[in-house]
Order: sequence, then structure tokens, then C-alpha cells
Amino acid sequence: MLILTCPYCGIDADETELAPGGEAHLKREGPDSSDDAFEAYLFARDNVRGIHLERWRHAYGCGKWFLAARDTATLEVLGTYSAQTSEPPAEIRTRIQERQAR
Ligand SMILES: [Zn+2]
Repeated sequence: MLILTCPYCGIDADETELAPGGEAHLKREGPDSSDDAFEAYLFARDNVRGIHLERWRHAYGCGKWFLAARDTATLEVLGTYSAQTSEPPAEIRTRIQERQAR
């Protein structure tokens, strides 16, 4: 079972308390972008086997959106962090680099 720690309320929430929100850190495309860039923003997503950055909502808890770094093959969670960031915090980036170096 997937268990993620909500970075806002600190609860270890299992997947039945969470709602998935897809890939994290998408670059939004505006009305002046090309059709291909806007289509990719709307529909194209990475389907990674390995470390993936994802959006989750603590739907049956505090209700807030947060981000998680986890391995989609092993379900190992490398960390969760605020959704108001443009990249994972340094300690999670270090864990990702250590995992990728194995
Ligand atoms: Zn929460």
C-alpha cells in the first residue's frame, strides 16, 4: 500500500485518503504558445518506470495539494513537499541523485 506523509498536517496517509493529481512541475503554456506546445501541456505526460514527481491531494484529510517523489516500480517514497515550490527541496534532490547513482 502506498503511504505518503502530508507535508502540511504531518499525517501518514494511505492511498485511500489521497487523490492523485498526475505529474508535478508542468510548465504552463499560455495563449501565445504554439499549438504543439499547448497540446503537449494539455495531454502529454511522462509515464516513468522509476523516480517520478507527482501531485497528490490529501482529500480525506486537510484537503491540500502537495508533491511527492516516489519510485513507480518499487513504491518507495523519497519524500513529500509543498506544492508551492518549483523543484523538490535539496534533501529530496540528494535522495533522487543517490538512487539514480545505484
Ligand atoms: Zn494533510
